[in-house]
Amino acid sequence: ALERTFTPWRLRALELPHRVVAGSMHTGLETLDDGGVALAAYYAERVRGGASLLITGGLAVNPEGCGAHDFSVLGDPAGDARFAHAAAAVHEAGGFLAAQLFHAGRYALLEGVTDAEGRPVHPVAPSPLPWRAAGASVPVELDEEGIARTIADFGRAAARAVELGFDAVEIMASEGYLINQFCSPVTNRRDDGWGGDAVRRQRFAVEVLREVRQAVGFDVPVIVRLSGADLVPGSTTPEETAALARALVRAGADALNVGIGWHESRVPTVQAAVPHGAWLGYAEAVAEAVSLPGDPSAPTAVPVIASNRLTDLRDVEAVLAGGRISAVALARPFLADAAIVGLSREGRFHEVNSCIGCNQACLDRSFTMQPVSCLVNPRAANEWRYPLPASVVREGGSGSGRRRVAVVGGGPAGLVAAADLAERGVAVTLFEAAPELGGQFRLAARIPTKEDYALTVDHYRDRLARLGAEVRLGHAADADELAAAGYDSVVVATGVRPRTLDIEGATLPHVLSYERAIDEGVPEGRVAIIGGGGIGVDVTKLLVLPGDPAVRARAFARHHGLPEAGVSLEGAGLPQRARVRASVPRPGEQVTLLRRTGKFGAGMGITSRWVALGELRDAGVRFASDLAYERITPSGVEVLHADGRRELIAADTVIVCAGQVSHDPLSARLAELGVSHERVGGALDATRVDAVRATRQALDAARRP
Ligand code: SF4
Repeated sequence: ALERTFTPWRLRALELPHRVVAGSMHTGLETLDDGGVALAAYYAERVRGGASLLITGGLAVNPEGCGAHDFSVLGDPAGDARFAHAAAAVHEAGGFLAAQLFHAGRYALLEGVTDAEGRPVHPVAPSPLPWRAAGASVPVELDEEGIARTIADFGRAAARAVELGFDAVEIMASEGYLINQFCSPVTNRRDDGWGGDAVRRQRFAVEVLREVRQAVGFDVPVIVRLSGADLVPGSTTPEETAALARALVRAGADALNVGIGWHESRVPTVQAAVPHGAWLGYAEAVAEAVSLPGDPSAPTAVPVIASNRLTDLRDVEAVLAGGRISAVALARPFLADAAIVGLSREGRFHEVNSCIGCNQACLDRSFTMQPVSCLVNPRAANEWRYPLPASVVREGGSGSGRRRVAVVGGGPAGLVAAADLAERGVAVTLFEAAPELGGQFRLAARIPTKEDYALTVDHYRDRLARLGAEVRLGHAADADELAAAGYDSVVVATGVRPRTLDIEGATLPHVLSYERAIDEGVPEGRVAIIGGGGIGVDVTKLLVLPGDPAVRARAFARHHGLPEAGVSLEGAGLPQRARVRASVPRPGEQVTLLRRTGKFGAGMGITSRWVALGELRDAGVRFASDLAYERITPSGVEVLHADGRRELIAADTVIVCAGQVSHDPLSARLAELGVSHERVGGALDATRVDAVRATRQALDAARRP
């Protein structure tokens, strides 16, 4: 069914079997002091899963080009040894590895970064304009000599990459990094040979490409990642982007990979709130700019690669069906499932562990300089820590000597633990008190923009069934029963319960827990939400955002003034995946989100919080904070503001989102009975429910001997 996706193509000397590129992703493994073992395991597993061409996270071309202290610099002996090892592992598995040549420019956070002589380095940029992010300093304006040196560094890094065994290079000229900064009038205020008009602003990109081409020779493909749109007011125009694309082709680019947006743009680009395929119009525009009318065998002068917010190969096929996009780069979906390509090729789409766009274990961590992984696949970027047996168990075994483990709780933590145990041949029984699997993910999947969370539950349900794990739904296991059954150990993943409020009126009939509100719906009328953390924000989204993803996609495009996507994904994978709910959103003016102190959405990820709060503000939701709850009455919530004012927040329904408490009915009794057990996730610690921590703890528990 994926005919176009699995049509081979060539990039210079590379014969590639399909049109899916594993796009660049900084993992944090780049500087791990392990000789490249972790990187090699990470990339090789993806090649074994069907990936063909993989692009590394950004490899800085010089120390001042590092994004942060956990970036590797091409030419640094330790880093080079790691990547030589990783490239060899990729080759052994049958794939190709491209080095992304990276320079952060004014986006560099260089605390702790030194040059080869151990001296601190300072960010550089076309003009001395700082990035307004914590820790970013005013960059030094590059002079002629600095520009020449930087261009030479790109060339030297490219040559080094080839020596190390890389098969291709990608020049990072997008996402607001140095080359993109030169191209944009927002960040390039020069009036010399490198700025002043669009041609001079684009000269740096062209010169870098020429230098790199010269350095790598004829056979090695040079991909350029260019910005389809910066999404920053006053930046590069569509005409300038088209001219740049043509200039890059003339200067020897072998493919154009189209990125989107800058870190400082106020348009969300990679969050779950962004509709699938939202950015295809920009890749199409680049393809149009370099099209070769009249040549059906080569619709564009060089292949154009689309990227961002594509998670399913059925969507990739629809994109390619448009005729002008030659390939698609996916990044996060390869974290979520190393085998996405292989499974999809066999039509086993439902077996793919889909990226749900949460950013919680990947981008949120990358931006805060923590090691990257994946919420739905905690083995991601940890493959070396959690090896799989040579042949993963595909069918449940039946040997009588197998270890027997009970997992109690069918939320994300329980699902991860049960699947990992079953995959390694352990006889698993998963108990879930509710009639369905999913726990907090089952609730989350009902929140507009989070529909894809249901895919995780579907994936694990199917995976457990294939592995022959026993799943007992609607069964609240008790400790005596587990002890009597003689399990070798028990994983307690019983999760959390909503915290109740201890104020007058908290038990009135119009007061709902967030669980009930999400499960049963909220009657029409005014609503006050007590608690403005992540769950309060989600519940507010449930009330005020349209339930139908197609309606939201149109509103998103209108709101951000986006061109119509060149390719419609309706009719591809999307309708089969998204759970369409025909709910009519209520006017935001009917909803008040209350928070005692602190920031709304506290605890949400750095990439998602501002987007969600923006959606609520745009919908007209009222926010009220710095207050104390006095009582709930049949007419609403009485609050005392910090300035001494008393106010009745009028509400027909009050929803309590005041956090959670651990729910662990088992551990104490299991300990008395001497049953080996381990608590994970919310059952262990509900102070700040963190699904990333929960699934990782679950994997750890599953791996205990
Ligand atoms: Fe996708 Fe979330 Fe995993 Fe990142 S952490 S790869 S966004 S599912």
